Amino acid sequence: MNFEISDRIKAVLNKIDRFVEEELIPIEHEFFNRDFREMIPVLEEKRKTVKEMGLWGPNHPEKLGGMGLTLLEHGLVSESLGMSPLGHYVFGCQAPDAGNIEILHLHGTEEQKERYLKPLAAGKIRSCFAMTEVDMPGSNPVMMETMAHKEGGDYIINGHKWFATAADGSDFAIVMAVTNPDDNIYMRASMIIVPTDTPGFNLVRNIPIMGHSGSGYTSHGEIVFRSCRVPQKNLLGAEGQGFVMAQERLGPGRIHHCMRWLGICKRAFDLMCKRAAERVISPDGKTLASKQIVQSWVAESAAEIQAARLMTLQTAWKIDALGPKEARDDIGLIKFVAANTMQRVIDRALQVHGGLGMTDDTILAYYFRHERAARIYDGADEVHKSSFARRYLRKYQA
Ligand SMILES: Cc1cc2nc3c(=O)[nH]c(=O)nc-3n(C[C@H](O)[C@H](O)[C@H](O)COP(=O)(O)OP(=O)(O)OC[C@H]3O[C@@H](n4cnc5c(N)ncnc54)[C@H](O)[C@@H]3O)c2cc1C
Repeated sequence: MNFEISDRIKAVLNKIDRFVEEELIPIEHEFFNRDFREMIPVLEEKRKTVKEMGLWGPNHPEKLGGMGLTLLEHGLVSESLGMSPLGHYVFGCQAPDAGNIEILHLHGTEEQKERYLKPLAAGKIRSCFAMTEVDMPGSNPVMMETMAHKEGGDYIINGHKWFATAADGSDFAIVMAVTNPDDNIYMRASMIIVPTDTPGFNLVRNIPIMGHSGSGYTSHGEIVFRSCRVPQKNLLGAEGQGFVMAQERLGPGRIHHCMRWLGICKRAFDLMCKRAAERVISPDGKTLASKQIVQSWVAESAAEIQAARLMTLQTAWKIDALGPKEARDDIGLIKFVAANTMQRVIDRALQVHGGLGMTDDTILAYYFRHERAARIYDGADEVHKSSFARRYLRKYQA
């Protein structure tokens, strides 16, 4: 195992840290309080600078205009970008586009790459991923009701999806739909590219999440597909391979998420320590930092962040060295460890801020609202724990 960082990546991380601190953190406040669409001109300017600095698309292949970093290297970048909610978007590696770029790169036809992949990787358009359904358990997506049946040279899609992140304003969706209902349950679904201006693609609403519906990139859409007709050439990869491709997309995606969450941990931890050191709590000038309970939160948070970080880096290294299959157990473990570490650290930091923590005057309340979902998407905690334990216990049962 080797976590050594090359001089090139050290220089990249320094540049990114400085950019996040000087260019993104100062404009975050506008981001909480405004419609995302109003922020686009400012964010486009930032994206232009990032491209000029040669830092665009850290994880995308070089031939797509990205930096072509390894998973471990991109994990470190993702941690730095996670220090601001604008980081990944401004550097062109935001979910769900990053995952969609990966799938299109691996499985797209030349025509699909030209029409969808190239402008997506260049940040000219956005996309979404529609798998989860309103009436079916997302935790067991083989139970899927959305159907795509063939008619002439087309697929006709009918179904009801929700939580398609960033659907509002997306140019196209990658939709999971059952194309082969008579096959084995794992081989029934396929991925189909659906341009969002296709008749029958109905974005019903941006779902309110913890009091905010969001807009554009910062939204989660509910979509009804009603006789939505797309040509069969929009099939992505082979028919029936949808779940296999979705798994491929999720493995590396979990490293990106976990490292982003660790960036959030660092930001919250830093705010917690500053507030503890500055907030005078008694007439003799003692600060919160003098209280044993706060010291305990500081020490516990530092230890938990370090543990989650090492687990995540080790998993990224293992995927790079041996492939995602070999790292399956590690990926399951880091998903719930990093998500819960982040939540505990944000919660402690918010508590140290008292009433101020509940306001939008710091970023903590934003993180508290938006990052709760980390324990649900990309596999709920309970699903990861249960699948790991089942596999692990098999050895003992044998
Ligand atoms: C902010 C956010 C963004 C999202 N983005 C997307 C997106 O872009 N595209 C997309 O397709 N989906 C997206 N999702 C959906 C997400 O993937 C699903 O919410 C998730 O898979 C859980 O599915 P569900 O909501 O249907 O919950 P259910 O499957 O109904 O599960 C509910 C709860 O039951 C428990 N549970 C489930 N299975 C088990 C088990 N085997 N053992 C023990 N307990 C269990 C868990 O606690 C779980 O939270 C997003 C969700 C959120 C919140």
